[in-house]
Amino acid sequence: MTKVNPLTHFIGGHHVEGTSERFSNVYNPATGEVIANVPLASKEEVQEAIGKAKEAFPAWRDMSVAKRAEIVLKFRNLLVEHTAKIIRIICTESGKTEEDAQGELTRGIESVDLAMSAPHLMKGEYSVNVGGGINAYSAKYPLGVVAAIAPFNFPIMVPLAQTSMAVAVGNAVILKASERVPMTALYISDLWKEAGVPDGIWTVVNGDKEAVNELLAHKDVEAISFVGSTPVARYIYETGAKYGKRVVALGGGKNNMVVMPDANLEQVANAFISAGYGAASQRCMAISTLIAVGKETGDRLAKIVQEKVQALKVGPYDEKPDYGPVISQQAKEAILTSIAQGEKEGAELLVDGRQAAITKESAGFFLAPTLFDHVKPGMEIYEEEIFGPVRNIVRTETLDEAIQLINEHELGNGVTIFTNDGLAARKFTTEIDVGMVGVNVPIPIPVGYHNFAGFKGSRFGDGQMFGPDQARFYTKTKMISERWVEPSEENKLSFAFPSDYK
Ligand code: NAD
Repeated sequence: MTKVNPLTHFIGGHHVEGTSERFSNVYNPATGEVIANVPLASKEEVQEAIGKAKEAFPAWRDMSVAKRAEIVLKFRNLLVEHTAKIIRIICTESGKTEEDAQGELTRGIESVDLAMSAPHLMKGEYSVNVGGGINAYSAKYPLGVVAAIAPFNFPIMVPLAQTSMAVAVGNAVILKASERVPMTALYISDLWKEAGVPDGIWTVVNGDKEAVNELLAHKDVEAISFVGSTPVARYIYETGAKYGKRVVALGGGKNNMVVMPDANLEQVANAFISAGYGAASQRCMAISTLIAVGKETGDRLAKIVQEKVQALKVGPYDEKPDYGPVISQQAKEAILTSIAQGEKEGAELLVDGRQAAITKESAGFFLAPTLFDHVKPGMEIYEEEIFGPVRNIVRTETLDEAIQLINEHELGNGVTIFTNDGLAARKFTTEIDVGMVGVNVPIPIPVGYHNFAGFKGSRFGDGQMFGPDQARFYTKTKMISERWVEPSEENKLSFAFPSDYK
């Protein structure tokens, strides 16, 4: 069959064709057209990529950390220089709006900025005279070959967050980009090369489960960073651990916005709709559920939100919509099934996205916004992450009840509270069992120089995704004790456990 714009892998510093004979379609979600065929790597191709990365690693590890940081700085400048092109690729393969693509690139660059502080973050600790003539110090070394497996919904931000520090602290990095948005990852491969990263230090293998399984099992891969859905995150964590790897695996989210009766409801409605429906709700930190505390709060909010949601504009990025299509026809069908399920389970359908008109008729994967009210725990639309524009309103009588609901949920990625009551906010931030917490902010995603990770089913393993923790995750710490003795010093056998270095 003739291939449409066949893509490559990036192995050993070069674009190489896939040899597995397996390909997957990459779509423009706004038109429904196939825009490329991405090769799906075989086990052997992944092994070859790991081999090239392993070969390149020692020289990169031994390069001065300041020199590596300089290369990261060049890469950062290239990202800025090529912003327009990067945004165009992201919009084309993911369907995002330009504004949203620019936002994710900016946040991704924050991770690259932080990676430039590798010289500082790799510093160890030093003690002199811990015993007679003995100094002891800790030193951080890169791990070797490490792999990052990325989701579709942030074609650049998440890969940059997963990999920039890994490169800067001296690892050879293999990115398994999402097979649904591989073009951005391939594009930045050229930028890494232009910045001066040696061949083999930056690799992109495109693929699916077969490639991932080889990365998980291969003895030369030291660490796995995964971002994606919860069932796959759990699988990656369990399998990686079985093979003795260091693993952090971030999963999905079902994030709540709690609204206290004293909050400014006009502000709340705008915050909920922006954070709930932005990017067609395809964000792990999207707000899924608005929890209104008090009947009156719920009634007033439902009315304001309903009107605003009905006015949202959905369409392709060149029409400057509020949000674009979802990623695939399959995703769209799954979301339609969830809406039908919500109706069946008795939630009140305030806005039905199945009936609303989309600005431009096309074969794209568009879905207008859907809003359910009187949603209850136990309903599928309450329990499951819906990666598309279907949002909920839940009502509770008290803040305690809201906290309890949230803490009982399987996922714990992000949460936020809107209130003018400092004590309520303090109680909330103390008692809530969620990794990223906001007070009067719509999406409590930390900036790139802070750590990022959820709790419970939103994160497996103890690493974080952004932030300084990346430097810890991608290095191993050695403790070194040194003693230099005068040749004249008395020297005798000693079988006692070393407790007194005299
Ligand atoms: P996904 O789990 O389907 O895929 C993620 C990656 O895993 C892809 O590279 C894919 O090729 C690979 N993969 C998929 N199935 C696999 C399998 N069975 N075995 C091995 N590898 C497999 O996720 P997605 O649909 O690309 O992304 C959306 C999900 O990611 C949502 O659940 C979202 O909440 C989550 N996400 C979480 C965060 C976070 O920081 N917590 C950030 C972004 C996205």
